[in-house]
Amino acid sequence: MRVTLSMEQSLPAVPAVDDHHVDRRRYPDGVAFMDGQYLPMSEAKISVLDWGFLHSDATYDTVHVWNGRFFRLDLHLDRFFRGIERLRMELPYDREKIASILNNCVALSGHRSAYVEMICTRGSSPTFSRDPRQAENRFMAFAVPFGSVANKEQLERGLHVAISETIRIPPKSIDPSIKNYHWLDLVKGLFDAYERGAETALILDTNGYVAEGPGFNVFVVKDGSLRTPAFGVLPGITRRTVFDLCAVMGLSATAADVSRAEIKAADEVFITSTAGGIMPVTRIDGTAIANGLVGSITRRLMDLYWHKHDDPAWSTAVAYP
Ligand SMILES: *Cc1c(COP(=O)(O)O)cnc(C)c1O
Repeated sequence: MRVTLSMEQSLPAVPAVDDHHVDRRRYPDGVAFMDGQYLPMSEAKISVLDWGFLHSDATYDTVHVWNGRFFRLDLHLDRFFRGIERLRMELPYDREKIASILNNCVALSGHRSAYVEMICTRGSSPTFSRDPRQAENRFMAFAVPFGSVANKEQLERGLHVAISETIRIPPKSIDPSIKNYHWLDLVKGLFDAYERGAETALILDTNGYVAEGPGFNVFVVKDGSLRTPAFGVLPGITRRTVFDLCAVMGLSATAADVSRAEIKAADEVFITSTAGGIMPVTRIDGTAIANGLVGSITRRLMDLYWHKHDDPAWSTAVAYP
């Protein structure tokens, strides 16, 4: 990827990369922001001494851009800033500056549909102190092509999911409402699922109820009402959006425990993530959900979800050069 901008354009330039040092094909086509500069993805690197890397001491958020518009950016920024505060981190940038950095990453990348991540790590201390209070926190962001948990075929026929025996990290250990990189439980769930011939995983909460999967929440539909786990999960913006869509469509939706038996006996199941939106599940642990086809409520929600991406009340235009 090479971003070239003429002088009249107000966006900062992204330097060209020396091809001798980096195999750029190994990096997605995109633009990152780090240490005050915009860089091609292949150049965006952090120190191995950053606590974000050494201790997963970081929070992040992911927002997407669809047809040149950010979807629900304010909600993502709210969640990101709340996480930073709860983790006692500080950023040198305010909310407006971060919104403009995200905009610039997308604009410089040229992508009309993008996956945009903002990250704050603990960083490291200039004296290598073990005291997290001495660390200089770091902010970085990037925009790469839009990616989805489910591919086109899976979106049409529904995902095959396995419920892993793995327990989600307890909320009393790690607050799940702060978006984090403590993913060893989720990754173990994925390997469990692959071993059982499934495409992705759901893992359980500390009480044995269904919690969530690697980067997504889950909903069940039964007798026309929706339910999503309330405990031990990241409150997803797509999950929240489903509640808002249900209000528009006159459907009832609640957050409450979902047992393994209940999810298998549901009329419809779907998962939600910024990486893919609302994605149907038609098979759990090898057994079809209802008739094994994507359900009608799921379809209606998917349609309205994508329709809302053009609505100025739900989305903001990227300022391309
Ligand atoms: C990001 C994430 C989700 C989904 O949240 P969205 O805001 O809808 O993308 C669900 N679970 C976990 C663990 C996550 O990290």
